[in-house]
Amino acid sequence: MPTDTILTIYCPYCMDQSEFILLTAYKDGRFVCIHCAHTVRPGVVNYSCVCPTCVWLFQNGKLPSSYHSFSDAGGASLKEKLLLN
Ligand SMILES: [Zn+2]
Ligand SMILES: [Zn+2]
Repeated sequence: MPTDTILTIYCPYCMDQSEFILLTAYKDGRFVCIHCAHTVRPGVVNYSCVCPTCVWLFQNGKLPSSYHSFSDAGGASLKEKLLLN
């Protein structure tokens, strides 16, 4: 993956006006949802988020395999929209 690619990751649990919440990048490489504290670590397959939602899903055996991240080509415009809120 090119290092100059802007990584856009959305929280799989939070919706704001029918759109997913963009996660906030942390200096240590994690991405964090400011709403539910869900965290994502891009590139780390076995990274385990311990936010309340993930813990609940894990304990109930409902954690989807693709929960950790997904990117979207239109993320930049969505990010701009969210920053204006
Ligand atoms: Zn969230
Ligand atoms: Zn989580």
